[in-house]
Amino acid sequence: MTRREQWARVLQENQIKPSYPRLCIYSYLAESKSHPTADEIYLALHDEMPTLSKMTVYNTLNILIEKKLARLISIEEHEARYDANTQLHGHFKCSLCDRVIDFPVQDQYISYDNLKGFDVMEKDIFFRGICPSCKVSGGKA
Ligand SMILES: [Zn+2]
Ligand SMILES: [Zn+2]
Repeated sequence: MTRREQWARVLQENQIKPSYPRLCIYSYLAESKSHPTADEIYLALHDEMPTLSKMTVYNTLNILIEKKLARLISIEEHEARYDANTQLHGHFKCSLCDRVIDFPVQDQYISYDNLKGFDVMEKDIFFRGICPSCKVSGGKA
């Protein structure tokens, strides 16, 4: 089975019809580690699919979120990024190069003492700072 076929199967298992644009968008997101914005996804796929519209990208991302195959990360208010990794993990955003890097978070080490009786709907862990390569280059990498 090719990677694309595997992603198609994941879509089907989640009751999403794997149309060609949906499959391209989901494969791109699932194989990307960069937490792309909808615009970045659109630009990356535009050559392969000149008929792709931004509307299709947004609609597909919304379906993926609804089916919990992707999540929206809004580290910055004006910038929605998407992640196909829906397991709990932290995000580090470099303030100079804007890269968003994953880091592992272990739920069992988080204290929920003050949250007894609360329904947790979302867990977002964001760190911000300067990445090692920007520290060396001063952000001119
Ligand atoms: Zn950086
Ligand atoms: Zn992530």
